[in-house]
Amino acid sequence: MGTDGSKDGSTAAAESDLCTSCGMCCDGTYMAWVRLVPGDDIGRLTVLHPEHTDEGKHFFVQPCAALEGTRCSVYTDRPTVCRSYRCQLLDRTAAGEHSVQRAAELITQARQLADRIKPQMIERTGTTEPAGLIHLYGPLEEHYNSLPEPDAARLADADLLFDITAFRRLIDRHFAKPQQSAPSDIT
Ligand code: SF4
Ligand code: SF4
Repeated sequence: MGTDGSKDGSTAAAESDLCTSCGMCCDGTYMAWVRLVPGDDIGRLTVLHPEHTDEGKHFFVQPCAALEGTRCSVYTDRPTVCRSYRCQLLDRTAAGEHSVQRAAELITQARQLADRIKPQMIERTGTTEPAGLIHLYGPLEEHYNSLPEPDAARLADADLLFDITAFRRLIDRHFAKPQQSAPSDIT
């Protein structure tokens, strides 16, 4: 989603490079929704397909329609939550807890894992719509439970399930912030 623009030039540039090589907080990898708040100019964000809840809150489902590759196509007009969001990786890099190079390596590692597991999850679940990875965990579980021998099916998919566990641990440890990773955050 991006940087806050208040850093010095080199830090802001490094963070921008990291984000534009990542995009995982926009593509549904680990965030299910983005909430729009009062003050967001929804009219300028029509590509985002906002939805309306019973409580009058607006939000849109990830993957975000404004994401082009790993870049935000409405960057200057992005919603408030996108402007303020910083993943753990950016915070720790800015705090000097690890290097920019290490942060880039973690992004590469996470994206490679996501690219490996997502097609298999789509195939297992029969998903046809563009779907964020975070939306596939539930259907995958339903898929196994629908089979005559769920445990045997899981055993046959041991490599996939191992990769999913490794991926989720990587996201939890280095990217997601607990209060911003759950769909219930916006309801
Ligand atoms: S509007 Fe831009 S920053 Fe916000 S989720 Fe979409 S692509 Fe990401
Ligand atoms: S997950 Fe972090 S590094 Fe990746 S685009 Fe979002 S804020 Fe940037």
